[in-house]
Amino acid sequence: PAPPSAATVLPGQPAGFAPELARRDIPILHRTVNGHPLVWLDNGATTQKPRQVIEALAGFYGSANSNIHRGAHTMAREATEAYEAGRAAVAQFLGAPSPDDIVFVRGTTEAINLVAQSWGRANLGPGDDILVSTLEHHSNIVPWQLIAKETRARVVPVPLQPDGQVDLDAYADLLSMRTQLVALSQVSNVLGTVVPVREMTALAHRYGAKVLVDGAQAVAHFPVDVTDLDADFYAFSGHKLFAPTGIGALYAKPDVLEKMPPWQGGGNMIESVDFTRTTYAPVPHRMEAGTGHISGVVGLLSALNWLTSFDRNAIAAYETALTAHAQQALSTVPGLELLGSAPGRVGVLTFTLAGQDPSRIADWLDRDGIAIRAGHHCAQPALAHYGLTSAARASLALYNTPEEVDKLVASLQQLQQLQG
Ligand code: PLP
Repeated sequence: PAPPSAATVLPGQPAGFAPELARRDIPILHRTVNGHPLVWLDNGATTQKPRQVIEALAGFYGSANSNIHRGAHTMAREATEAYEAGRAAVAQFLGAPSPDDIVFVRGTTEAINLVAQSWGRANLGPGDDILVSTLEHHSNIVPWQLIAKETRARVVPVPLQPDGQVDLDAYADLLSMRTQLVALSQVSNVLGTVVPVREMTALAHRYGAKVLVDGAQAVAHFPVDVTDLDADFYAFSGHKLFAPTGIGALYAKPDVLEKMPPWQGGGNMIESVDFTRTTYAPVPHRMEAGTGHISGVVGLLSALNWLTSFDRNAIAAYETALTAHAQQALSTVPGLELLGSAPGRVGVLTFTLAGQDPSRIADWLDRDGIAIRAGHHCAQPALAHYGLTSAARASLALYNTPEEVDKLVASLQQLQQLQG
Protein backbone atom coordinates (compact mmCIF):
# COMPACT_ATOMS: atom_id res chain seq x y z
CA PRO A 1 0.00 0.00 0.00
CA ALA A 2 1.11 3.52 -0.82
CA PRO A 3 2.08 5.57 2.24
CA PRO A 4 -0.39 8.30 3.19
CA SER A 5 0.45 11.58 1.47
CA ALA A 6 1.96 14.23 3.71
CA ALA A 7 -0.54 16.76 2.35
CA THR A 8 -3.41 15.22 4.24
CA VAL A 9 -1.86 15.19 7.70
CA LEU A 10 -3.81 17.57 9.92
CA PRO A 11 -2.77 19.20 13.18
CA GLY A 12 -3.75 16.82 15.95
CA GLN A 13 -4.12 13.92 13.54
CA PRO A 14 -2.65 10.80 15.11
CA ALA A 15 -0.77 8.18 13.13
CA GLY A 16 -2.68 5.06 12.19
CA PHE A 17 -5.16 6.27 9.60
CA ALA A 18 -5.13 8.44 6.51
CA PRO A 19 -8.01 8.92 4.07
CA GLU A 20 -6.02 7.57 1.12
CA LEU A 21 -6.15 4.15 2.76
CA ALA A 22 -9.93 4.19 2.29
CA ARG A 23 -10.09 6.23 -0.94
CA ARG A 24 -8.12 3.76 -2.98
CA ASP A 25 -10.83 1.15 -2.34
CA ILE A 26 -13.72 3.37 -3.47
CA PRO A 27 -14.06 3.59 -7.26
CA ILE A 28 -16.74 6.29 -7.36
CA LEU A 29 -14.46 8.77 -5.58
CA HIS A 30 -12.28 8.72 -8.69
CA ARG A 31 -14.96 9.94 -11.11
CA THR A 32 -15.52 13.49 -12.25
CA VAL A 33 -18.73 15.53 -12.00
CA ASN A 34 -19.25 18.53 -14.26
CA GLY A 35 -15.60 18.34 -15.29
CA HIS A 36 -14.23 18.32 -11.73
CA PRO A 37 -13.07 15.47 -9.49
CA LEU A 38 -16.03 14.43 -7.36
CA VAL A 39 -16.00 15.84 -3.82
CA TRP A 40 -18.57 13.74 -1.97
CA LEU A 41 -19.70 15.66 1.10
CA ASP A 42 -23.18 14.13 1.31
CA ASN A 43 -22.24 11.22 3.55
CA GLY A 44 -25.06 11.99 5.96
CA ALA A 45 -27.47 11.06 3.16
CA THR A 46 -25.52 8.00 2.05
CA THR A 47 -21.93 6.80 1.90
CA GLN A 48 -19.93 5.54 -1.09
CA LYS A 49 -19.12 1.86 -1.45
CA PRO A 50 -15.76 0.11 -1.39
CA ARG A 51 -14.86 -2.21 -4.27
CA GLN A 52 -14.97 -5.10 -1.77
CA VAL A 53 -18.69 -4.47 -1.19
CA ILE A 54 -19.42 -4.12 -4.90
CA GLU A 55 -17.53 -7.36 -5.60
CA ALA A 56 -19.33 -9.17 -2.78
CA LEU A 57 -22.68 -8.29 -4.40
CA ALA A 58 -21.52 -9.38 -7.85
CA GLY A 59 -20.01 -12.54 -6.35
CA PHE A 60 -23.24 -13.43 -4.60
CA TYR A 61 -25.39 -13.04 -7.71
CA GLY A 62 -22.67 -14.51 -9.96
CA SER A 63 -22.06 -17.70 -8.05
CA ALA A 64 -23.98 -18.04 -4.79
CA ASN A 65 -27.56 -16.83 -5.29
CA SER A 66 -30.20 -18.84 -3.43
CA ASN A 67 -33.02 -18.28 -1.01
CA ILE A 68 -32.17 -19.02 2.61
CA HIS A 69 -33.56 -21.24 5.36
CA ARG A 70 -35.38 -23.18 2.64
CA GLY A 71 -34.46 -26.18 0.54
CA ALA A 72 -31.96 -28.86 1.38
CA HIS A 73 -29.49 -28.07 -1.37
CA THR A 74 -25.92 -26.87 -1.15
CA MET A 75 -26.66 -23.39 -2.47
CA ALA A 76 -29.44 -22.80 0.09
CA ARG A 77 -27.10 -23.92 2.85
CA GLU A 78 -24.31 -21.65 1.60
CA ALA A 79 -26.61 -18.62 1.29
CA THR A 80 -28.05 -19.30 4.75
CA GLU A 81 -24.57 -19.52 6.22
CA ALA A 82 -23.60 -16.22 4.58
CA TYR A 83 -26.76 -14.54 5.88
CA GLU A 84 -26.25 -15.81 9.40
CA ALA A 85 -22.55 -14.87 9.25
CA GLY A 86 -23.79 -11.34 8.49
CA ARG A 87 -25.97 -11.44 11.59
CA ALA A 88 -23.04 -12.59 13.73
CA ALA A 89 -20.85 -9.83 12.28
CA VAL A 90 -23.46 -7.16 13.08
CA ALA A 91 -23.74 -8.49 16.65
CA GLN A 92 -19.99 -8.29 17.06
CA PHE A 93 -19.83 -4.84 15.44
CA LEU A 94 -22.42 -3.50 17.91
CA GLY A 95 -21.10 -5.34 20.98
CA ALA A 96 -24.38 -7.29 21.23
CA PRO A 97 -24.22 -10.45 23.35
CA SER A 98 -25.67 -12.73 20.66
CA PRO A 99 -26.55 -12.80 16.93
CA ASP A 100 -30.07 -13.69 18.07
CA ASP A 101 -30.41 -10.09 19.30
CA ILE A 102 -30.12 -8.78 15.72
CA VAL A 103 -33.09 -8.37 13.37
CA PHE A 104 -32.41 -7.51 9.74
CA VAL A 105 -34.52 -4.66 8.41
CA ARG A 106 -34.46 -2.29 5.43
CA GLY A 107 -32.82 0.44 7.46
CA THR A 108 -33.18 2.68 10.48
CA THR A 109 -36.66 3.79 9.46
CA GLU A 110 -37.97 0.25 9.28
CA ALA A 111 -36.24 -0.68 12.56
CA ILE A 112 -38.00 2.14 14.39
CA ASN A 113 -41.36 1.36 12.79
CA LEU A 114 -40.89 -2.28 13.82
CA VAL A 115 -40.34 -1.29 17.46
CA ALA A 116 -43.26 1.15 17.39
CA GLN A 117 -45.65 -1.33 15.79
CA SER A 118 -44.60 -4.41 17.76
CA TRP A 119 -43.29 -3.28 21.15
CA GLY A 120 -45.30 -0.05 21.09
CA ARG A 121 -48.66 -1.61 20.32
CA ALA A 122 -48.11 -4.21 23.06
CA ASN A 123 -46.85 -1.83 25.72
CA LEU A 124 -48.27 1.67 25.22
CA GLY A 125 -51.59 2.89 26.51
CA PRO A 126 -53.56 6.02 27.38
CA GLY A 127 -51.56 8.43 29.51
CA ASP A 128 -48.16 6.92 28.65
CA ASP A 129 -45.34 9.20 27.51
CA ILE A 130 -42.87 8.67 24.70
CA LEU A 131 -40.02 11.14 25.10
CA VAL A 132 -38.43 12.16 21.80
CA SER A 133 -35.57 14.64 21.52
CA THR A 134 -36.05 17.69 19.31
CA LEU A 135 -32.93 16.62 17.38
CA GLU A 136 -34.61 13.59 15.91
CA HIS A 137 -34.86 12.66 12.26
CA HIS A 138 -38.50 12.37 11.16
CA SER A 139 -38.04 8.59 11.20
CA ASN A 140 -37.66 8.76 14.98
CA ILE A 141 -40.68 11.05 15.41
CA VAL A 142 -43.43 10.00 13.00
CA PRO A 143 -43.54 6.25 13.89
CA TRP A 144 -44.09 7.32 17.52
CA GLN A 145 -46.81 9.76 16.52
CA LEU A 146 -48.58 7.01 14.57
CA ILE A 147 -48.54 4.51 17.43
CA ALA A 148 -49.30 7.19 20.03
CA LYS A 149 -52.45 8.08 18.10
CA GLU A 150 -53.56 4.46 18.08
CA THR A 151 -52.75 3.77 21.73
CA ARG A 152 -53.64 7.23 23.05
CA ALA A 153 -50.12 7.71 24.40
CA ARG A 154 -48.38 11.11 24.15
CA VAL A 155 -45.25 12.07 22.22
CA VAL A 156 -43.37 14.58 24.38
CA PRO A 157 -40.50 16.57 22.80
CA VAL A 158 -37.33 17.05 24.84
CA PRO A 159 -36.03 20.56 24.08
CA LEU A 160 -32.56 21.55 22.92
CA GLN A 161 -30.06 23.97 24.36
CA PRO A 162 -28.91 26.83 22.11
CA ASP A 163 -25.70 24.93 21.22
CA GLY A 164 -27.69 22.01 19.80
CA GLN A 165 -27.24 19.58 22.68
CA VAL A 166 -30.27 17.97 24.28
CA ASP A 167 -31.36 19.94 27.36
CA LEU A 168 -30.52 17.41 30.05
CA ASP A 169 -32.21 19.32 32.87
CA ALA A 170 -35.45 19.47 30.90
CA TYR A 171 -35.05 15.77 30.12
CA ALA A 172 -34.69 14.91 33.81
CA ASP A 173 -37.81 16.98 34.55
CA LEU A 174 -39.86 15.33 31.79
CA LEU A 175 -39.06 11.76 32.84
CA SER A 176 -41.69 10.22 35.07
CA MET A 177 -43.31 6.91 35.86
CA ARG A 178 -45.54 7.63 32.83
CA THR A 179 -42.51 7.46 30.52
CA GLN A 180 -42.55 4.16 28.65
CA LEU A 181 -40.01 4.92 25.97
CA VAL A 182 -37.25 7.43 25.21
CA ALA A 183 -36.22 7.81 21.55
CA LEU A 184 -32.81 9.39 20.95
CA SER A 185 -30.33 9.87 18.13
CA GLN A 186 -26.80 9.09 19.14
CA VAL A 187 -25.61 11.65 16.57
CA SER A 188 -27.77 14.39 15.05
CA ASN A 189 -27.95 14.33 11.25
CA VAL A 190 -28.28 18.13 11.24
CA LEU A 191 -25.92 19.36 13.93
CA GLY A 192 -23.49 16.48 14.37
CA THR A 193 -24.23 16.67 18.10
CA VAL A 194 -23.13 13.56 19.97
CA VAL A 195 -25.90 12.92 22.49
CA PRO A 196 -24.91 11.43 25.87
CA VAL A 197 -27.14 8.42 25.29
CA ARG A 198 -25.42 6.26 27.90
CA GLU A 199 -26.18 8.70 30.72
CA MET A 200 -29.66 9.44 29.38
CA THR A 201 -30.39 5.71 29.16
CA ALA A 202 -29.31 5.11 32.75
CA LEU A 203 -31.66 7.88 33.87
CA ALA A 204 -34.58 6.54 31.82
CA HIS A 205 -34.08 3.09 33.28
CA ARG A 206 -34.59 4.48 36.78
CA TYR A 207 -38.18 5.11 35.72
CA GLY A 208 -38.51 1.71 34.09
CA ALA A 209 -38.63 3.26 30.59
CA LYS A 210 -37.11 1.58 27.54
CA VAL A 211 -34.65 3.47 25.36
CA LEU A 212 -34.33 3.32 21.58
CA VAL A 213 -31.13 4.74 20.13
CA ASP A 214 -31.05 5.78 16.47
CA GLY A 215 -27.47 5.07 15.44
CA ALA A 216 -27.88 6.00 11.75
CA GLN A 217 -25.34 8.84 11.92
CA ALA A 218 -23.10 7.29 14.57
CA VAL A 219 -21.94 3.86 13.42
CA ALA A 220 -19.75 5.08 10.55
CA HIS A 221 -17.84 7.47 12.78
CA PHE A 222 -16.90 5.76 16.04
CA PRO A 223 -17.10 2.32 17.67
CA VAL A 224 -20.44 1.56 19.31
CA ASP A 225 -21.11 -0.89 22.13
CA VAL A 226 -24.80 -1.44 22.82
CA THR A 227 -24.01 -3.44 25.95
CA ASP A 228 -22.06 -0.54 27.37
CA LEU A 229 -24.80 1.93 26.34
CA ASP A 230 -27.35 -0.42 27.94
CA ALA A 231 -29.79 0.58 25.17
CA ASP A 232 -32.91 -1.54 24.83
CA PHE A 233 -33.01 -0.94 21.08
CA TYR A 234 -30.35 0.28 18.65
CA ALA A 235 -30.99 0.89 14.94
CA PHE A 236 -28.78 1.64 11.95
CA SER A 237 -28.83 1.68 8.14
CA GLY A 238 -26.23 -0.19 6.08
CA HIS A 239 -26.10 2.45 3.35
CA LYS A 240 -24.73 5.07 5.76
CA LEU A 241 -22.03 2.54 6.67
CA PHE A 242 -20.50 1.84 3.22
CA ALA A 243 -22.95 -1.05 2.60
CA PRO A 244 -25.82 -1.30 0.08
CA THR A 245 -29.19 0.42 0.42
CA GLY A 246 -32.17 -1.59 1.64
CA ILE A 247 -30.39 -3.36 4.49
CA GLY A 248 -30.01 -2.35 8.12
CA ALA A 249 -30.24 -3.84 11.55
CA LEU A 250 -32.14 -3.54 14.78
CA TYR A 251 -30.53 -4.69 18.02
CA ALA A 252 -32.95 -5.43 20.86
CA LYS A 253 -32.18 -6.72 24.34
CA PRO A 254 -33.04 -10.42 24.38
CA ASP A 255 -35.59 -10.23 27.20
CA VAL A 256 -37.38 -7.37 25.39
CA LEU A 257 -37.24 -8.93 21.92
CA GLU A 258 -38.44 -12.28 23.24
CA LYS A 259 -41.71 -10.71 24.40
CA MET A 260 -42.38 -8.73 21.21
CA PRO A 261 -45.26 -9.95 19.03
CA PRO A 262 -44.72 -10.28 15.26
CA TRP A 263 -45.36 -7.12 13.31
CA GLN A 264 -45.59 -8.67 9.85
CA GLY A 265 -46.77 -12.14 8.89
CA GLY A 266 -45.57 -14.47 6.17
CA GLY A 267 -42.94 -17.06 5.36
CA ASN A 268 -39.80 -17.49 7.49
CA MET A 269 -41.43 -16.16 10.66
CA ILE A 270 -43.62 -19.16 11.53
CA GLU A 271 -43.16 -22.50 13.21
CA SER A 272 -46.43 -23.99 11.98
CA VAL A 273 -49.51 -22.61 10.24
CA ASP A 274 -52.98 -23.93 10.79
CA PHE A 275 -56.35 -22.25 10.30
CA THR A 276 -57.10 -22.81 13.97
CA ARG A 277 -53.70 -21.99 15.45
CA THR A 278 -50.49 -20.59 13.96
CA THR A 279 -47.28 -20.62 15.98
CA TYR A 280 -44.29 -18.41 15.41
CA ALA A 281 -40.58 -19.01 15.00
CA PRO A 282 -38.28 -17.87 17.78
CA VAL A 283 -36.68 -14.40 17.52
CA PRO A 284 -35.03 -12.97 15.53
CA HIS A 285 -36.73 -14.93 12.70
CA ARG A 286 -40.18 -14.09 14.08
CA MET A 287 -39.46 -10.46 13.13
CA GLU A 288 -38.26 -11.23 9.59
CA ALA A 289 -41.31 -12.17 7.50
CA GLY A 290 -40.69 -12.99 3.86
CA THR A 291 -37.49 -13.26 1.86
CA GLY A 292 -35.00 -10.80 3.24
CA HIS A 293 -32.38 -8.75 1.43
CA ILE A 294 -29.89 -11.62 1.25
CA SER A 295 -27.38 -9.91 -1.05
CA GLY A 296 -27.72 -6.81 1.12
CA VAL A 297 -26.59 -8.81 4.14
CA VAL A 298 -23.66 -10.16 2.12
CA GLY A 299 -22.76 -6.57 1.19
CA LEU A 300 -23.18 -5.40 4.78
CA LEU A 301 -20.89 -8.16 6.01
CA SER A 302 -18.30 -7.09 3.47
CA ALA A 303 -18.65 -3.41 4.51
CA LEU A 304 -18.19 -4.30 8.18
CA ASN A 305 -15.10 -6.34 7.33
CA TRP A 306 -13.76 -3.43 5.29
CA LEU A 307 -14.41 -0.79 7.97
CA THR A 308 -13.07 -2.89 10.83
CA SER A 309 -9.89 -3.66 8.86
CA PHE A 310 -8.88 -0.11 9.86
CA ASP A 311 -8.13 1.09 13.38
CA ARG A 312 -11.53 2.57 14.24
CA ASN A 313 -10.21 4.78 17.02
CA ALA A 314 -7.67 6.19 14.58
CA ILE A 315 -10.49 6.86 12.08
CA ALA A 316 -12.45 8.72 14.77
CA ALA A 317 -9.38 10.78 15.66
CA TYR A 318 -8.80 11.60 11.97
CA GLU A 319 -12.42 12.65 11.50
CA THR A 320 -12.24 14.82 14.63
CA ALA A 321 -9.18 16.60 13.22
CA LEU A 322 -10.87 16.96 9.80
CA THR A 323 -14.03 18.35 11.39
CA ALA A 324 -12.01 20.91 13.36
CA HIS A 325 -10.26 21.92 10.13
CA ALA A 326 -13.63 22.23 8.36
CA GLN A 327 -15.13 24.35 11.15
CA GLN A 328 -12.14 26.68 11.12
CA ALA A 329 -12.06 26.94 7.31
CA LEU A 330 -15.81 27.53 7.01
CA SER A 331 -15.58 30.33 9.58
CA THR A 332 -13.55 32.35 7.02
CA VAL A 333 -16.48 32.48 4.56
CA PRO A 334 -18.26 35.85 4.84
CA GLY A 335 -21.84 35.52 6.06
CA LEU A 336 -21.57 31.81 6.90
CA GLU A 337 -23.35 30.66 10.06
CA LEU A 338 -22.68 27.16 11.29
CA LEU A 339 -25.57 25.57 13.17
CA GLY A 340 -24.78 24.06 16.56
CA SER A 341 -21.72 24.48 18.71
CA ALA A 342 -21.90 21.59 21.15
CA PRO A 343 -18.39 20.27 21.83
CA GLY A 344 -17.25 16.96 20.37
CA ARG A 345 -19.43 17.08 17.27
CA VAL A 346 -19.20 14.55 14.47
CA GLY A 347 -18.44 15.93 10.98
CA VAL A 348 -21.92 17.09 10.07
CA LEU A 349 -21.67 20.78 9.17
CA THR A 350 -24.97 22.49 8.50
CA PHE A 351 -24.85 26.16 7.62
CA THR A 352 -26.58 29.13 6.16
CA LEU A 353 -24.99 31.75 3.96
CA ALA A 354 -26.24 35.33 4.15
CA GLY A 355 -28.25 36.21 1.06
CA GLN A 356 -28.16 32.69 -0.41
CA ASP A 357 -30.91 30.16 -0.64
CA PRO A 358 -29.59 26.73 0.44
CA SER A 359 -30.66 25.12 -2.84
CA ARG A 360 -28.70 27.78 -4.75
CA ILE A 361 -25.63 26.98 -2.63
CA ALA A 362 -25.97 23.28 -3.48
CA ASP A 363 -26.39 24.06 -7.21
CA TRP A 364 -23.37 26.33 -7.19
CA LEU A 365 -21.18 23.72 -5.47
CA ASP A 366 -22.44 21.01 -7.83
CA ARG A 367 -20.96 22.94 -10.74
CA ASP A 368 -17.58 22.43 -9.05
CA GLY A 369 -18.26 18.71 -8.56
CA ILE A 370 -18.99 19.18 -4.85
CA ALA A 371 -22.02 17.24 -3.53
CA ILE A 372 -23.76 18.56 -0.42
CA ARG A 373 -27.39 18.47 0.67
CA ALA A 374 -29.80 21.38 0.93
CA GLY A 375 -33.23 21.30 2.54
CA HIS A 376 -34.82 20.37 5.83
CA HIS A 377 -32.76 17.17 6.27
CA CYS A 378 -35.85 15.30 7.49
CA ALA A 379 -35.41 17.03 10.83
CA GLN A 380 -37.77 20.00 10.71
CA PRO A 381 -38.04 20.42 14.51
CA ALA A 382 -34.23 20.67 14.82
CA LEU A 383 -34.08 23.35 12.11
CA ALA A 384 -37.05 25.16 13.65
CA HIS A 385 -35.01 25.40 16.87
CA TYR A 386 -32.78 27.80 14.88
CA GLY A 387 -35.74 29.54 13.24
CA LEU A 388 -35.01 27.88 9.89
CA THR A 389 -36.87 25.74 7.39
CA SER A 390 -33.90 24.94 5.18
CA ALA A 391 -30.10 24.89 5.36
CA ALA A 392 -27.05 23.53 3.53
CA ARG A 393 -25.23 20.52 4.94
CA ALA A 394 -21.75 19.16 4.25
CA SER A 395 -21.21 15.81 5.96
CA LEU A 396 -17.84 14.11 6.20
CA ALA A 397 -16.66 10.51 6.12
CA LEU A 398 -13.34 8.79 6.71
CA TYR A 399 -12.37 9.12 3.03
CA ASN A 400 -12.72 12.91 2.88
CA THR A 401 -9.55 14.98 2.82
CA PRO A 402 -8.60 18.47 4.01
CA GLU A 403 -8.08 19.37 0.33
CA GLU A 404 -11.73 18.53 -0.36
CA VAL A 405 -12.84 20.69 2.55
CA ASP A 406 -10.66 23.50 1.17
CA LYS A 407 -12.35 23.14 -2.26
CA LEU A 408 -15.74 23.50 -0.57
CA VAL A 409 -14.60 26.60 1.25
CA ALA A 410 -12.99 28.13 -1.87
CA SER A 411 -16.18 27.58 -3.87
CA LEU A 412 -18.30 29.17 -1.11
CA GLN A 413 -15.89 32.13 -0.98
CA GLN A 414 -16.33 32.63 -4.73
CA LEU A 415 -20.10 32.51 -4.42
CA GLN A 416 -19.99 35.21 -1.75
CA GLN A 417 -17.58 37.34 -3.81
CA LEU A 418 -19.93 37.20 -6.79
CA GLN A 419 -22.74 38.41 -4.63
CA GLY A 420 -20.62 41.10 -2.95
N1 PLP B 1 -32.03 8.67 11.57
C1 PLP B 1 -31.08 9.52 11.23
C2 PLP B 1 -30.36 10.28 12.31
C3 PLP B 1 -30.77 9.72 9.88
O1 PLP B 1 -29.84 10.59 9.55
C4 PLP B 1 -31.48 8.98 8.90
C5 PLP B 1 -31.22 9.19 7.46
O2 PLP B 1 -30.91 10.25 7.01
C6 PLP B 1 -32.45 8.09 9.32
C7 PLP B 1 -32.70 7.95 10.66
C8 PLP B 1 -33.24 7.28 8.35
O3 PLP B 1 -32.43 6.36 7.72
P1 PLP B 1 -32.99 5.48 6.52
O4 PLP B 1 -33.59 6.43 5.54
O5 PLP B 1 -31.77 4.80 6.00
O6 PLP B 1 -33.98 4.53 7.09
